[in-house]
Amino acid sequence: MSTIKDLEPNGVWKNFYSLTQIPRPSKKEAKVIAFMKKFGEDLGLETIVDDCGNVIIRKPATPGMENRKGVILQAHLDMVPQKNADKVHDFENDPIETHIEDGWVKANGTTLGADDGMGAAAAMTVLESKDLAHGPIEALFTIDEETGMTGANLLKPGILQGDILMNMDSETEGELYVGCAGGVDTIGTWTPTYEDVPTGMKAFRLFVKGLKGGHSGMDINLGRANANKVLNTMMLMAAEKYGLRMACIDGGSLRNAIPREAEAIVVVPADKEEQFKAYAAEYESIVKSEFEGIEPELAILCEPADMPKQIIDVKTQDNMFCAIARYPNGVIAMSPDFEGTTETSSNLATIKMEDGKIVCAALTRSLVDASKDKLAEQIRKNLTDNGAEAYSTGDYPGWKPNIDSPILHTMKETYKDKFGTDAKVMVVHAGLECGILGSKYPNWDMVSFGPTLVHPHSPDEAVNIESVGKFWDFVVETLKNIPLKEEIA
Ligand SMILES: [Zn+2]
Repeated sequence: MSTIKDLEPNGVWKNFYSLTQIPRPSKKEAKVIAFMKKFGEDLGLETIVDDCGNVIIRKPATPGMENRKGVILQAHLDMVPQKNADKVHDFENDPIETHIEDGWVKANGTTLGADDGMGAAAAMTVLESKDLAHGPIEALFTIDEETGMTGANLLKPGILQGDILMNMDSETEGELYVGCAGGVDTIGTWTPTYEDVPTGMKAFRLFVKGLKGGHSGMDINLGRANANKVLNTMMLMAAEKYGLRMACIDGGSLRNAIPREAEAIVVVPADKEEQFKAYAAEYESIVKSEFEGIEPELAILCEPADMPKQIIDVKTQDNMFCAIARYPNGVIAMSPDFEGTTETSSNLATIKMEDGKIVCAALTRSLVDASKDKLAEQIRKNLTDNGAEAYSTGDYPGWKPNIDSPILHTMKETYKDKFGTDAKVMVVHAGLECGILGSKYPNWDMVSFGPTLVHPHSPDEAVNIESVGKFWDFVVETLKNIPLKEEIA
């Protein structure tokens, strides 16, 4: 049985193998920081660990390449710790078990960590190389990209000297990313008063389920249903027609996922029970046809429930129903410059009861920071107009595409010369560290690329072996072709 240590390009795979042996879930990076520090020091290279744990390793230019622009090779050290329910694995102590399957490398029941171990392995291979030609190199290994981009956020301006940032955290070989969306969370809170349930009511559990969900940035343009919206519209109409009253609501799970499920406990007058049940069935068929071909598993249950102790006051209920119905959600604008790419979007991710309050949260994204801020303002206004308190938090900047970027030009030419085809120039409607890093180093010329990964952040994560070879060749050729310092002054 061959192992990944035998694959080509051998240097990259050996370094990736080393990384699989070191536990490195997000926020628990001490072991991999120590490993990377030793890696740099053992090579005799200047190695810095900054206050938050980012590792920076400097390698001088090879002979004859001293006058090239400085390149920062960047990757994140942490990985998403996800495993199948039946897999026994301790992400803080156990190595990742890898195997080769039909041209792909996968892990055994866990995430693989090719996101972003492959980027880190490529940077390590450049650092230890003796036969490559390159200008001044800095490798920047950041911590905690996956749960808050902490390393990028805490990186100090002025510590790096290079001119060009090559982020190696993109997921399709042959694509060059030159922009990403920024984001901001907006939280709305209603503080209801509670009332006893009037006599003569029947209780029901409404449950919207079976939706596809997905990533709230990358999948927002697919027209999928939002469980919170579907449930809210159902209750809004039933309140008007049958006097529905809500006791509690629980919709969505993750702040950056399109909600797949939402449920509420409601009561309706007993004499309206049959009409209400008929309405629920009709509503389900209407929503099913609205999302035909998109949400084949969509189902809306309306089943008898235990009588709740109390219900929320009617004013708060009306306010919430109205605000959620009017909540800007989904694609707000497509990019005029990049075909098929979302420019601005919002996703009403969660509606939950917290200490008797109703709390809703949405993540707004845009390639254009001003559009994101404007949309967040509109969302807050909609909430406060409807009786909620509202604030925005966790704001991070996007990376505005620069189609005239010199490194983009160099890499497009290099790709064409090397592989005979054009690389695709893309922007991504999700966050990359480049947005934050670029805000600290505004003069950097940035690009993001990588080998082909599928199903990152899940136990199905796999990296395509052939694409790793092309990715590596592309790194090597690009480093040879980096422009002279004077050329992009
Ligand atoms: Zn990543």
